[in-house]
Amino acid sequence: MKAAFLDRDGTINRDYPDVEWKGKTEPELIDGAMEGLRFLQDQGYALIMITNQYLIDEGIITYADYQNFTDRLVWRLAQQGIHLQDIFFCPHRRDAGCRCCKPKPGMIEQALEKYPEIDLKQSILIGDSAGDRELARSLAIPFYEIADEGRHPRKNWKAVYALGR
Ligand SMILES: [Mg+2]
Ligand SMILES: [Zn+2]
Repeated sequence: MKAAFLDRDGTINRDYPDVEWKGKTEPELIDGAMEGLRFLQDQGYALIMITNQYLIDEGIITYADYQNFTDRLVWRLAQQGIHLQDIFFCPHRRDAGCRCCKPKPGMIEQALEKYPEIDLKQSILIGDSAGDRELARSLAIPFYEIADEGRHPRKNWKAVYALGR
């Protein structure tokens, strides 16, 4: 099985400055995210989300806030026929020194342990941050960047379609 490891915030749904996350309940989807995820799914990738959620242990949001937002996102995707294989998240403070906070590889390791059928060599990582890019580089898997374009950035999923060429 090949996996597409997906960042969440800024990749599938809009990201916000840390302090603005309190009270966010409804994901605002990034332009093209739904179509891009469907494209990956059609290409045979298992969709696995890996998301840093240090806001939990840093006290800005609660675990329930994280879970409710994620549940809502998963539901929205499911409505469009997009199925996430699994979700791994790191709730730890940035200074906790944990192994799961990207760019550290802990969440990928958890996924490989849970799904030994994943072939990392065929897998890819999709994200919007330097940490995502660094993680992909350390794993030696392709990185597809959800890029900003223009003066008032509108992110887009164009890079992902290079997979089909
Ligand atoms: Mg991100
Ligand atoms: Zn962690």
